[in-house]
Amino acid sequence: MATVQPIAADSSSFVQREYSPAAKRALARKPALFINNEWVSSSHGATLIVEDPSTGREVGRIVDASDADVDRAVAAARAAFDDGRWSNLPPKVRERTINKLADLLEAHAAEFAELEAIDNGKPVGFAAMIDVPGSVDHLRYMAGWASKIGGEVQDPLGMPRGQVFSYVSRQPVGVAAQIIPWNFPLIMATLKISPALAAGCTLVLKPAEQTSVTALRLADFVAEAGFPPGVINVITGNGHTAGDRLVKHPDVDKVAFTGSTEVGKIINRSATDSLKRVTLELGGKSPVIVMPDVNVDEVAPAAAGSVFFNAGQICVAGSRLFAHRSIFDRMLEGVSKASGFWRPRPSLDPEGHMGPLVSKEQMDRVMGYIEKGKRDGASVAVGGDAAAANGYYVNPTVLVDVKPSMSVVREEIFGPVLVAQRFDTLDEVAKAANDTSYGLAASIWTRDVSAMHKLAARLKAGTVWGNCHAVIDPALPFGGFKQSGIGREQGRQGIEAYTELKTVIIQL
Ligand code: NAP
Ligand code: MG
Repeated sequence: MATVQPIAADSSSFVQREYSPAAKRALARKPALFINNEWVSSSHGATLIVEDPSTGREVGRIVDASDADVDRAVAAARAAFDDGRWSNLPPKVRERTINKLADLLEAHAAEFAELEAIDNGKPVGFAAMIDVPGSVDHLRYMAGWASKIGGEVQDPLGMPRGQVFSYVSRQPVGVAAQIIPWNFPLIMATLKISPALAAGCTLVLKPAEQTSVTALRLADFVAEAGFPPGVINVITGNGHTAGDRLVKHPDVDKVAFTGSTEVGKIINRSATDSLKRVTLELGGKSPVIVMPDVNVDEVAPAAAGSVFFNAGQICVAGSRLFAHRSIFDRMLEGVSKASGFWRPRPSLDPEGHMGPLVSKEQMDRVMGYIEKGKRDGASVAVGGDAAAANGYYVNPTVLVDVKPSMSVVREEIFGPVLVAQRFDTLDEVAKAANDTSYGLAASIWTRDVSAMHKLAARLKAGTVWGNCHAVIDPALPFGGFKQSGIGREQGRQGIEAYTELKTVIIQL
């Protein structure tokens, strides 16, 4: 086995840069909710802390919405849907309005990237390169569907032609409640709102309590983009209070949730009572399968990136590495070496590739998994520790000598922790990769076309990548098998999930 050095942590270097005046302004705003195109105060005045995980410091406050606040937001969305002020607009107007929001976001790209970095902890360079342009892409891609989505004419089986006209049309499902996690706050917000808006729905968005800043800043541009009041409403607050109220609200027609499998199950249960439409994008424990023919020098850093990117806080993190026995040692050495590239830095460091975890709670959770893994008999090949600093920095970690029954192998850690295992045959690795309650994604690394397709067919995952990982594109459907979710987002299927089919049969 490769011997690997622990990553040196120099606590004196964990100094966050000063925020720009624009970011300071956005963080200093009075806590408010965005309802009916206006910033309104909460009914009860409770607030939540906005924290910079790079420093552990409070940098602002947001509203902790009350039941009355949630009701007010839903009422606004309901009224805006029911009178058709949005859904009855010509598709080209809806398309243009969504595109205008994308333009405004793009025009403020640097500020959004900085705010995302401050609030979530991700490196500002990645936020600028991935989160903000990705968000713009989601809006623009779905904007185009506003004018493309339609129904079809279909003759019935049992009635003579010419005596009946029957067609199937698509109508917007109504008011959407959209609840999102903290790992890609702005991408999640735009990914959620864009298909709803393109379909003609109105919505109430609830970002995660840890990362609401960019969703609130986006709301600043809603009226300017031209959305009528009540179409987009943004409320902030706790999941188990405001989120729960939103999900159970009788005036909500559809719930779209991204987050943990645990909360997804709670949401599914509450939505079931009123038979609301539900799409769930949940957790994962995605395998990275490396066949013996690969160029290890190229694939090892890619495998490291698949799990250390965004500090492992990504639903499709390649958290289980399966390397063929013949290359396992070299892969491990390569991944461990590459982990140096992912040494954590404060989020505004322009040279940083990995930031802190989003919160102390998340850091404790991840460290708890590492400790449990060690107690269960896993060995630490690299990392395994948190940096001595005020922020929530966990070093990139690789665990070996793991068994399939260990919690570090079975459960989603949502941190920079890789478990590495060997395999001998294709059959063996297919079984091991599928030995999980999750089914979100997987990647296969090989130039062997036959092995690639055989494995792709056998893996129980909503997305399978070949010789790449975590390529998520607005045009391609995304979602999970098994306990990784219900339904698909993105692509044509993404907008269809915000519609109801109506069959019309007219006897002529
Ligand atoms: P989480 O705890 O499930 O929270 C997600 C959202 O749900 C937050 O806005 C949260 O509010 C809210 N919430 C919590 N309890 C609720 C309840 N009882 N009713 C209604 N809403 C409730 O997930 P997270 O820790 O933020 O995010 C990490 C998880 O998201 C991971 O499991 C990851 O795999 C998953 N994820 C999946 C995808 C995907 O597309 N499949 C993408 C990204 C992340 P609070 O902020 O107040 O907790
Ligand atoms: Mg924060």
